[in-house]
Amino acid sequence: MRKKIVAGNWKMHLTLPEAESLARAVAEGWTGHPTVEVLVAPSFPYLEPVRRIVEPSPVGLAAQNAHWEDWGAYTGEVSVPMLRSVGVDHVILGHSERRKYFGENDDILKRKTARALAHGMHVIYCVGEDEAQRERGEHFRVVENQVAAVLGDIADSEWQRVIIAYEPVWAIGTGKTATPEQAAEMHARIREIVARLAGDDIARAVPVLYGGSVKPANAAAIFAQPGVDGGLIGGASLKADDFLAIVRAAVETAEKSR
Ligand code: PEP
Repeated sequence: MRKKIVAGNWKMHLTLPEAESLARAVAEGWTGHPTVEVLVAPSFPYLEPVRRIVEPSPVGLAAQNAHWEDWGAYTGEVSVPMLRSVGVDHVILGHSERRKYFGENDDILKRKTARALAHGMHVIYCVGEDEAQRERGEHFRVVENQVAAVLGDIADSEWQRVIIAYEPVWAIGTGKTATPEQAAEMHARIREIVARLAGDDIARAVPVLYGGSVKPANAAAIFAQPGVDGGLIGGASLKADDFLAIVRAAVETAEKSR
């Protein structure tokens, strides 16, 4: 059975003391569960201090981005070996905000993903259509292209470290959420795409998270959908109580499906 994963994307929020106090509250509130994994993704300068806080707990650490080269003259960038050296083993790649504001296309994301996987990182690869694409009925094709372009060539052994996050762009930070049915339908389609690329066993094993305005009030309904293996949480991950309530929803739905 696949684990549920709940990952908090803190984006470009919080001062260091705020990030530390959020990390402390999450680490204190999450004692672990065999079927649920919890991750937090602070911004780069806070990775090391947050790592020290969460290390004794089962809370894992993710970066929000990484470069495609190991080292070099890339002012302002952070590489996978740098992240590894501060104890980070998960990275979010392809978030729609990176695609939209920083011009990250599938070619760049393919290089970033390959580099991260080559260094043993776990990659949370984000995909999702925007509102216009959904209205035009192109959402399946858009997501299929994003998955195939970036994950099409990776080795079977590397798939074990791939997590896909379906995040409809129109639902991120907007308060609009995909209906549980829309999420279930896209998650099933993503698994079909992975089956075509890498075979049925890998498709059955790959975790597919939902992201987009997940809150304590809607988390259980979304997580209970077949094929939804947890969530990538933005706004609600900045409040420990809300984030921990979402984590509890993951535990409850994981327990029910056992
Ligand atoms: C995100 O940015 O990955 C996200 C899902 O944000 P929010 O939960 O705020 O919609």
